[in-house]
Amino acid sequence: MAHYYCEWCGAVHQSVQSLVNSSCPRSPSKKHTLYEGSEKSQYTCKYCGAKGQSLRGLVNSTCTKSPTKYHQRHCRKMAVQETVPPTKTA
Ligand SMILES: [Zn+2]
Ligand SMILES: [Zn+2]
Repeated sequence: MAHYYCEWCGAVHQSVQSLVNSSCPRSPSKKHTLYEGSEKSQYTCKYCGAKGQSLRGLVNSTCTKSPTKYHQRHCRKMAVQETVPPTKTA
């Protein structure tokens, strides 16, 4: 059976439609956002490197480095635009 996870709160739904149409307490858009990564045995916070046995467990633990105060495990680039400064040619 397929499992679809919210990348913000770790909620699990059995269809993408059900997931993205449910409200999310953690998401900036107020709706769950599909976590598009593969299921892993361990998840790592992209801000502080904390590890969790489950996506849900990780994203529901507080993080000192994250802007949302919770660990986050994003697998894709979305709202956060990481601007890379142009490399200077010497
Ligand atoms: Zn959610
Ligand atoms: Zn963290």
